[in-house]
Amino acid sequence: MTRVALITGTSSGIGLAAAVQAAKAGYRTVATMRDLSRAGKLRAAAAEAGVELDIRALDVTEDPSAVVAAVLADHGRIDVLVNNAGAGHVGTVEQDSVENFRKTMEVNFFGVVQLTKLVMPALRATGGRLITVTSVGGIVGQPFNEAYCAAKFAVEGMMESLAPLAESHGVKVSVIEPGAVATEFVNNVGLDLETAIAAAGPYGDQFRNYVSRTMQSFSAAQTPDEVAEVILKAMTDESPAFRIQTSQWAEGFTGLKLADQDGSAVQKLTG
Ligand code: NDP
Repeated sequence: MTRVALITGTSSGIGLAAAVQAAKAGYRTVATMRDLSRAGKLRAAAAEAGVELDIRALDVTEDPSAVVAAVLADHGRIDVLVNNAGAGHVGTVEQDSVENFRKTMEVNFFGVVQLTKLVMPALRATGGRLITVTSVGGIVGQPFNEAYCAAKFAVEGMMESLAPLAESHGVKVSVIEPGAVATEFVNNVGLDLETAIAAAGPYGDQFRNYVSRTMQSFSAAQTPDEVAEVILKAMTDESPAFRIQTSQWAEGFTGLKLADQDGSAVQKLTG
């Protein structure tokens, strides 16, 4: 019996690394991405690793039912779902449009909702694993990351809520919380630092310090392969933890609470 893993957002970064590592570990791996014209990097990585992947188109903001049905028809089972696809978005509720908040929720939250809903019966049938890549931004708010953190908090809340029932049906649930990972993600976020600092008003200097600390951490970021190793452990360990932070930096970061009891928000970020 070959186990089947379905992974989203595999055109680059963590998803790409996870797809290759899952295939190397013997999973029949369905590697999905929203745009198959971006499959070149994944194909090259798979060829280099000497593994085969089943690469399929899946935009997580669209109805995934046809893709899931096709995977089940072709492979007969799904043992692991890795909800990895995600996109950053920098902005504040005052500066930004409601529409941008909605779009951020569509990819990072509703993308996870609709795929989880569809795949869960298959996971129950196999006693499988439901693994979702969230972020330290899913447990601690980050300045200028309001929509993204809201979406990741929502995912964390949903997974924490459904985990006990899923486990009672034999499905183990994990959320993977990376800190900084060297992927295209940061470039795609489009942080305009000076605009953000100007908008931070009295907190401008603190925000500059925060970003410079964060960026220093990015220079010591984890690699996608390191995060993929953690995902693989969540796939294979007998009893994986529910909440898994992937880097020491992530652990340190969660110590940086934004709002203190005395209300001195952001102050602590200068630490
Ligand atoms: P990348 O930008 O390299 O990868 C993101 C992947 O998600 C890409 O394959 C992208 O596809 C895909 N994607 C975006 N929108 C959609 C969509 N609508 N449907 C399907 N796929 C989509 O970044 P990472 O590898 O870093 O990101 C992977 C996960 O890790 C995300 O959930 C992210 O939030 C999380 N994360 C990343 C951190 C980091 O520092 N990099 C830190 C914490 C969490 P396309 O190529 O088409 O754009």
